[in-house]
Amino acid sequence: MKKMRMTQVARAEDLTPHMRRIVLTGDDLKDFPADKEGAHFKAIFPQTGQTQPKLGLYLGFKKWMRSYTVRAFDHQKKELTVDFAVNDHEGLASNWAKHAQQGDYLGVAGPGDTKHTNYDALWHLLVADLTALPAAAAILEKLPSNAAGTAFIQVPTTADKQAIAAPKGININWVINKDLTKNALLQAVESLQWPDGKPAIFIATESSQMKVIKKHVKTKPGYSNEQTYASGYWKA
Ligand SMILES: Cc1cc2nc3c(=O)[nH]c(=O)nc-3n(C[C@H](O)[C@H](O)[C@H](O)COP(=O)(O)OP(=O)(O)OC[C@H]3O[C@@H](n4cnc5c(N)ncnc54)[C@H](O)[C@@H]3O)c2cc1C
Repeated sequence: MKKMRMTQVARAEDLTPHMRRIVLTGDDLKDFPADKEGAHFKAIFPQTGQTQPKLGLYLGFKKWMRSYTVRAFDHQKKELTVDFAVNDHEGLASNWAKHAQQGDYLGVAGPGDTKHTNYDALWHLLVADLTALPAAAAILEKLPSNAAGTAFIQVPTTADKQAIAAPKGININWVINKDLTKNALLQAVESLQWPDGKPAIFIATESSQMKVIKKHVKTKPGYSNEQTYASGYWKA
């Protein structure tokens, strides 16, 4: 288990109808590693009736943890920005985020490694639902300016689209879909005119949908396991 840090909410804002941005701060972030945008960490939430999360390893600690993404980190200000999908399900994390206010406590364990396999690949394919929008956006913002490829990003409404500073050669397609039982991202990927050359692929969506999308891209020319990251970000 990576180092655990105590943080507090510096500010919170509704980015879009289904995404709430929480900026965390605290002295514990003074040695949080830089350049981890797009990587995941474990958020540790306060237990019922508590204001502060219990840090450390103890029986049942995983019940209070969820995976989230480093959307941005400002070392100077010791500020960690995290975007939470809200308003489409009820859960420990999404409910916490919905009501989070300045001063609220959150534990942070990690971060892990960046999720993209090759930032210098010939071309890139990113397939992300709302929970992976923070990771996809962070990856797109880190790609070299001459990068080429396609991103399919699913959001529930057009108002949930975000401005992403992606390279000009990346075609961002917003897939508007409220029905999370429908694999709209698969349909979108199936419609892609597959370019030549070996791509770096990032797929992060609901677990069973991710598996079907991965199965599809595996049949395509240029596919390789070593240049593919495919992960279930939540389970229906
Ligand atoms: C590596 C990684 C990085 C992630 N980064 C982010 C991130 O930056 N932002 C983010 O919002 N999420 C992110 N997620 C997804 C997040 O961890 C899950 O959505 C998590 O289950 C939310 O916890 P919860 O306590 O709100 O709901 P839970 O208590 O886990 O689940 C409660 C119920 O809600 C359902 N559910 C959970 N998530 C969703 C959802 N998004 N939409 C619809 N139903 C859902 C479950 O099936 C369950 O029935 C990431 C996941 C991984 C693996």
